[in-house]
Amino acid sequence: MDFRVGFGYDSHRFAPGRPLVIGGIVIPYELGLAAHSDGDVLLHAVCDALLGAAGLKDIGTYFPDTDDTWKGADSTVILAKVMELLAEREWQVNNLDCTLVLEKPKMKPHIDDITLKLSQILHLSPENIAVKAKTNEKMGFTGAGEGIAAVAAVTLRKQC
Ligand code: MG
Repeated sequence: MDFRVGFGYDSHRFAPGRPLVIGGIVIPYELGLAAHSDGDVLLHAVCDALLGAAGLKDIGTYFPDTDDTWKGADSTVILAKVMELLAEREWQVNNLDCTLVLEKPKMKPHIDDITLKLSQILHLSPENIAVKAKTNEKMGFTGAGEGIAAVAAVTLRKQC
């Protein structure tokens, strides 16, 4: 068995007039996230963790923000395409652990929905997925409510 670990990070600035999409779920809030795509900060961090674990390049290489294909893109589609890149290399996701850093909105009511969405796209049991959210104690850009950051760690396995 071959094992790999991957780590991903992303951040996006809050912007008015956009839906807030986190982990493939629309979260009721007065602000969304500025981005070329839907701005799903959590899924972008997960994509980079998966790509990194597989020894591939970053999300921007495969889904550039200069390409109109990905303008306003649903990031669940991007994540599904990342899963195809992994499947071509026979990698399976073993587990995912991820954390959102934000002051608002409260994420607790949405964690189970996000976990279910991730389990569907990653072909992974919800017991092997952890989604957490925490504030940054009012420090830095997340603490000031300017935006949201997300980090993700994954392990992949492949039968040799
Ligand atoms: Mg991003």
